[in-house]
Amino acid sequence: MKNKSLMVVSIAFLFCLTSSVALTMAQCPRCDGTGELVCPYCDGEGEITVQEGAPCERCEGSGTLEPVVIQKSRSAWLNDGKISVQISYENRESINTYGRVTAAVEVKDNTYASTSPRTLFPANEVIQVSLTIDGVSSEDYNTLQAQQVFSTNITLEAENVPCPYCSGTGLTPATIECPQCDGTGFIECPECNGLGVEGGERNADLDIGGTTYGVVAVAVVAGVVTAAYVFVKKKGLKEEDLRKMPAGEFQNWVLKRLAGKSSSPSDSRVGIDGYALDGQPVSIKQETDVGRNAIENFAAAIGRRNARKGTIIAFGFGADAIRGRVRAKMSYGFDIQMITVKELIENRNSLI
Ligand SMILES: [Zn+2]
Ligand SMILES: [Zn+2]
Ligand SMILES: [Zn+2]
Repeated sequence: MKNKSLMVVSIAFLFCLTSSVALTMAQCPRCDGTGELVCPYCDGEGEITVQEGAPCERCEGSGTLEPVVIQKSRSAWLNDGKISVQISYENRESINTYGRVTAAVEVKDNTYASTSPRTLFPANEVIQVSLTIDGVSSEDYNTLQAQQVFSTNITLEAENVPCPYCSGTGLTPATIECPQCDGTGFIECPECNGLGVEGGERNADLDIGGTTYGVVAVAVVAGVVTAAYVFVKKKGLKEEDLRKMPAGEFQNWVLKRLAGKSSSPSDSRVGIDGYALDGQPVSIKQETDVGRNAIENFAAAIGRRNARKGTIIAFGFGADAIRGRVRAKMSYGFDIQMITVKELIENRNSLI
């Protein structure tokens, strides 16, 4: 009786341990199991600033700007048969520009004009432009003299300058939705393919080298209880009887319990003693202290038969057996179920 309850406690302990170990190890360390990372492209902002993302508002995308050159003052006077004109300009841009100034005077039906050579208007400076209008007929000159006051038409044709706001590119920075995360600020964790579980789906290629880790934590524990075993009601053998049984007979008893079938000699050589009802390999150990090595050897056998799951039956398992099981899951993605003979006996009615 004492042994029995001890066994139950240890089995319960075994399962608890299994589940906690599996869950802790399975969580993807990169994303802490969330399956997503803060988007590195936008630092989680969901939007990024593109240097040349929009047309410059100042130059409407042209890249050039008509400079702001202000006429500050002007004066015109008659001078020895000619008209002298002087204009001061202030270039309010922070960039030099060039331009030509034209001054024109109308007298009756005639227009007299003069245009300056290409003139520099230095950035943020006031300059004087002087013009002399000649060729005025003596009649018109006399008319102007008689008027004393006349109007002068002055125009400045300034050359466009590279837009200082966009450095002449016509484009300015713009904030757009981050294309990497579609504005969510998060990306799928590449380590676990968004599953939140170490290794994600990458174990699908069964890298025996151990570089991939395949653990879907959910399955590990759940599988123990929900296994599709059909237990056959048959003679009330006790654990003690089974321990003493010849090896072959013991194997047959187990396979009957699992409604399985025996394996071929070549299967036996790699450590597969039979197949369960669902076709998964079964390893049968008539031992009380099955450890990590046995589990790992069985995992290798499962791999050779291209199976994904397997069941190992024994009277008991050593503490390190769980590590072997977790490693099989982590490294190869195999689900190995550990079932004790005691469970086979006791559950004969419950899982039919
Ligand atoms: Zn611009
Ligand atoms: Zn982003
Ligand atoms: Zn992850």
